[in-house]
Amino acid sequence: MAVEQERGHDEPAHTSDAAALGALRDRVAKLEARLERADATIEQLRDDQRFFERLNEAVPAGLAYLDDRLIYRYCNATNAAFLGRPLAQILGQHLRTVVPENPTLWQTIELVVATGEPYPLQELSIVFAGREREGVHHFLIAFLPDRDASGHVRGVFLIAHDISELVRTREALRFLTDASSALATSLDIDTTLATIVELAVPRLSDMCLLDIVVSGETRVLAAAHDDPRTQALLYEIRERYPFELTGPDANIAWLDRLTGEGPIIQAAPVEAMLPLYARDDAHAELLQQLRTSATMFVPLLARDRLVGVLSLAMGRSGRGFELADLTLAEELARRAALAIDNALLFEQVQTAEASYRGLFDGAADAIIVTAANGQHIEANEAAVELTGYSREELFAMRIGSGALMAEGPEWTQIDAEQLSQNSSWRGEWELRRKDGSSVPVESVVQRVTLPSGSVSIGMLRDISERRQIELMQREFMAMVTHELKGPLTAIRGFSQLMRRQSTYNERGVDAILNQSAQLERLINDMLDATRVDAGQLDLRRADTDLCELVVACAEQAQTATTRHLIRSSVTATPIVGQWDRDRLAQVFGNLLSNAIKYDPDGGDISIAVSDDGDSARVSVQDAGIGIPEEAIPRLFDRFFRVGDTTLASAKGLGLGLFITRSLVEAHGGTIEVSSTPGVGSTFTVLLPKGN
Ligand code: ADP
Repeated sequence: MAVEQERGHDEPAHTSDAAALGALRDRVAKLEARLERADATIEQLRDDQRFFERLNEAVPAGLAYLDDRLIYRYCNATNAAFLGRPLAQILGQHLRTVVPENPTLWQTIELVVATGEPYPLQELSIVFAGREREGVHHFLIAFLPDRDASGHVRGVFLIAHDISELVRTREALRFLTDASSALATSLDIDTTLATIVELAVPRLSDMCLLDIVVSGETRVLAAAHDDPRTQALLYEIRERYPFELTGPDANIAWLDRLTGEGPIIQAAPVEAMLPLYARDDAHAELLQQLRTSATMFVPLLARDRLVGVLSLAMGRSGRGFELADLTLAEELARRAALAIDNALLFEQVQTAEASYRGLFDGAADAIIVTAANGQHIEANEAAVELTGYSREELFAMRIGSGALMAEGPEWTQIDAEQLSQNSSWRGEWELRRKDGSSVPVESVVQRVTLPSGSVSIGMLRDISERRQIELMQREFMAMVTHELKGPLTAIRGFSQLMRRQSTYNERGVDAILNQSAQLERLINDMLDATRVDAGQLDLRRADTDLCELVVACAEQAQTATTRHLIRSSVTATPIVGQWDRDRLAQVFGNLLSNAIKYDPDGGDISIAVSDDGDSARVSVQDAGIGIPEEAIPRLFDRFFRVGDTTLASAKGLGLGLFITRSLVEAHGGTIEVSSTPGVGSTFTVLLPKGN
């Protein structure tokens, strides 16, 4: 048609032939030019195709195209590598054949085909079975629908990035973050150890042994995944072959390597590691029962010191360890060591705190701790007892406020300066108790600098007893001087009288002898009191008849008085015991002479003996002035006398009843008193026979 159009209608035939030829040539030339252009276009398209092919191969992403029947039509090399198959086993194959056992993946692509909705770039895990790609792989993946002109979905483009490494790192980081926060939740060492093994199994390994050695003490924790028998076995191994850093059993070379070079990975089954770790055949046998496929030992280093070892092993899973596992284990070990170190430090602090608390609360002296601002911040039980204030009440007080200081010298500037210069202060003052009473105290205040600031520790000792003793000693000296002076004056007086008269004077000599005897009694009492103190009251026990002794004592006492009648009442049969006759004579002599002394008007005195089976009872009863009730608890104390005002005429050192009680107690006996002032007193002595 085009040729006819180019021929003119009115041209002659020969001219028209030539013209036709020329036109034909033109046409051929044009066609050739067109062909050339087409070739160039084809070449260009081929170039483009090669370019896109190169691009597809160069892109670090998996690219693929599946038709609407989910048959692979295109797959670049990266994607083929992801799938772990040669292209020949991919192209023309169905999705389910190429990636079996991944229903999520299938359903996702099927949905894109069915709905035409793209599946935007998202994370998807794909499980590959068999060959070198075995295991779970993580992809960032997108499926995009390919529609024809009518909008019908005729296939799906697939773009995938393998982010397994990234996911692993992210999971490792998450694991370590979780580990850090889990380890930070408790400072208790046992909880910390349990947390560590819980973290390790099964995340890092199938079984785990955690050994730590602190101040020579080994602590061990074992865990096995899904297998209590293995766990028991791990404990058994440790029980029989404890982990030792030092000592004859310590595997020094192994531990040295661990400390110096870091973790050891044994990729081989348990048999391979036996020569290095088994201490003897039995140990080797136990280790073999663990059936480990790989082992990893990670040192726990705290402040550059090996505090323990985290041993991880793969067992039933048959898994091995990868470099990433080692890194993770090392990171866990670092956190674990830190947590253990903290827990141990905390334990030490707690132990120290508990022992100091024990010392503090158990101290006999009152202790009050005061902050730099003068506020009391701590007080022990003794302080509460001494002051009568509760802890809370004490904490509401300030030092120097005068709340605790009774009348007397105030806390002066000089005292404050002494405390600040010497960091200590010592002095005596009167403490005012809550009930208003005051008590003398000796106190030592020590300034201590703590990280939180300086505090003053004040120790208060109740010195009322010491003051009392000092007072008693002074009174005693006055009394002794007075008691000795009387007889001495009498002796000197009678001696001088006889010298002046140059005659023997019977009355004078009697008086001198009596006064000497009085002096001797005083001195003996003082000696006996000293012996009681020194624990040297030795008894010479022998069979002694108490009835005979009591009668003799009553007769002896009667010679000293004419105003009193002393009656003795004894049993018909003798009461015999293992007693020191002289010492018991002293006991009854003291009681009878007191009965005489404290019944100045003269009255009846009785001394009675009764048999109580294993012991004998002797009571001395008078109808004298009696003893006030409040004096009874202290009646047998050394130097105690019921105020001299009661009976000015009765002299004494206040040692008689003290010695009496000591002698009775030396015999294993007891002495009691019952008395009614103005009516009389009864002293009862109970003596075990000791036969
Ligand atoms: P002393 O008689 O040397 O003072 P004691 O130790 O024998 O010392 O007695 C202590 C105190 O007990 C006496 O000072 C006296 O006040 C009181 N006492 C002892 N025996 C009697 C008694 N039988 N009746 C009343 N008071 C007594």
